Amino acid sequence: MRIGVLGGTFNPPHLGHLVCAQEAYIQLELERVILIPARQPPHKPVEEEPGAEHRLELCRLAVEDDPRFEVSELELNRDGPSYTVDTLSLLHSSAPDTDLYLILGGDIAAGLPDWHEPERVLSLATVAVAKRRGTPREVVEQSLGRLRGGERTRFFRMPRIGVSSTFIRERVRARQSIRYLVPGRVAGYIAEQGLYR
Ligand code: ATP
Repeated sequence: MRIGVLGGTFNPPHLGHLVCAQEAYIQLELERVILIPARQPPHKPVEEEPGAEHRLELCRLAVEDDPRFEVSELELNRDGPSYTVDTLSLLHSSAPDTDLYLILGGDIAAGLPDWHEPERVLSLATVAVAKRRGTPREVVEQSLGRLRGGERTRFFRMPRIGVSSTFIRERVRARQSIRYLVPGRVAGYIAEQGLYR
């Protein structure tokens, strides 16, 4: 069985995350993609953090009507920084026969050598990279090629979507519509709870 793992802050989840998950699902022939919101990403603070519980709920709402996707609380139940290596290790021990695919935007993938235990990350999962914001494939290949296991990296295409969580938060703050940029239920929850104002 092949399972995709898409980690992030999901503050909030948006079209870019979902299209990325969908393209990985299709092109890598995955059985499922799991969204894993981080409690505290090691490399960047959560900007305008509404609370991990809200981010979790937003993820749940984002995938609610799509059986290909699910949400895991794995990182939210763990204190301290959310290291991917720990998450993959837990997923691996709970299902040793499953092939894990770590889905990353190109911008993030190029920085993987600086992560905590990058070669162990690569031993636990195949990295699957979506092209994003013009980070060229060669840059990612060069950077991962220095690591043991990095040569197994897979690439998948996705339509360029210039939407980020930062952009969504800015729109909400400016009282501009986020319709079509996030799933309807996500927009509804943000409005109801008054997030990002
Ligand atoms: P922020 O704007 O708050 O920094 P973000 O939109 O980059 O957030 P994250 O939750 O940090 O979202 O991203 C999680 C993962 O999803 C990363 O691997 C990132 O590269 C990928 N991702 C996010 N937005 C897109 C997009 N528009 N296209 C492709 N991949 C994306």
